[in-house]
Order: sequence, then structure tokens, then C-alpha cells
Amino acid sequence: MAVMRRKNPKRVVSERDIYSCNSADELIALAKRHGLSDVPLDVDGLIRILNIRIRREAMDDETSGYLKRMDEHWVIGVNNLHHPRRQRFTLAHELGHFVLHQKNGREFVDKILYRNNLDSNSEEAEANVFAANLLMPEAEFRRFLSGVSDQVEDIASHFNVSALAVRIRAKNLGFSGHGL
Ligand SMILES: [Zn+2]
Repeated sequence: MAVMRRKNPKRVVSERDIYSCNSADELIALAKRHGLSDVPLDVDGLIRILNIRIRREAMDDETSGYLKRMDEHWVIGVNNLHHPRRQRFTLAHELGHFVLHQKNGREFVDKILYRNNLDSNSEEAEANVFAANLLMPEAEFRRFLSGVSDQVEDIASHFNVSALAVRIRAKNLGFSGHGL
């Protein structure tokens, strides 16, 4: 495997580079440097260059995904029975746990990601904010709303996320009205 990495050095980011990325913005910059789409973000590609494996598998409806250490690799699992746009948010949320919370080798199994009673300081809320920043960067979100369209469906298509994710993002950035 080492031979393959030498032949194609940009395929996977070095461990040092991975651990120097602590924010959604840094990960978006990393994706762009590797030729990945940033809007909508190629979240699968980003996870792969971080040397994390993705497992799409059927889970019970209440479960969205997980971040686990398996056979010497980090693995992000996602419930493939959920809508593809919801799966993208799950992937970004688990990536948030990886960047923000896994440093002591911790693992996460996630149920429904949006809950009304979420403590705003909790790791779950942090991972949701991280996912929103990754998939709907604030500057691009504001540019699109003011310059292109403020309709939820248009915004959701632009970022390839769910209408629910758009509504929560809009509310958190202080937008209201227009069906948001
Ligand atoms: Zn979580």
C-alpha cells in the first residue's frame, strides 16, 4: 500500500495535515486544494482523502450514523435508507465528531441529529454546527440568499442538503420570512 501512496501522493492527506484541520473552513480549503467541489461540497471525497472509510448500510430509522475505529481505520457509517441529502448531513456531522471530539479515540453512535432539547454546548450541537458550516458556508449562504434566491428549495438544491437543514441554518444566521 505504501507503494500506491508514493505513486499518488495526493490521494490521502498526511496524518499531520489531518490533525492540523480544526475547523470547517480549513477542511473546505483542503477539499479545494485536492480538486474537490466545495459547493456543493464533495463530502464523500473529503472524507476519503482524510483516510476515513465510509460504510453505507441499512440501519433502523432512528439511527443516522456513527464514527468508529475498526481494524486500524476510522470508519464513518451512514444509514443508507435515509434520503441522500440527509446522508450528506450525517456524514458531515460524523466528520465533525472526528475533527472536534475523537482525539482520545472516542466513538459515536448517532440517533436523530436534530432534536429540540439539544443542549447548545453539547458535542452533538457542536457537530451539527460543524456540519452546517461545512455544507453551507456562511458567506456563500448569504451570497446565494441575497443574490440568487431565498426560496428554501433553491437553497437546498444549491447546497445539496435537506430543506430542514436549510431552515435551521437560516434561523441560526438570523434570516426569517420567505418560507424560511
Ligand atoms: Zn453526533
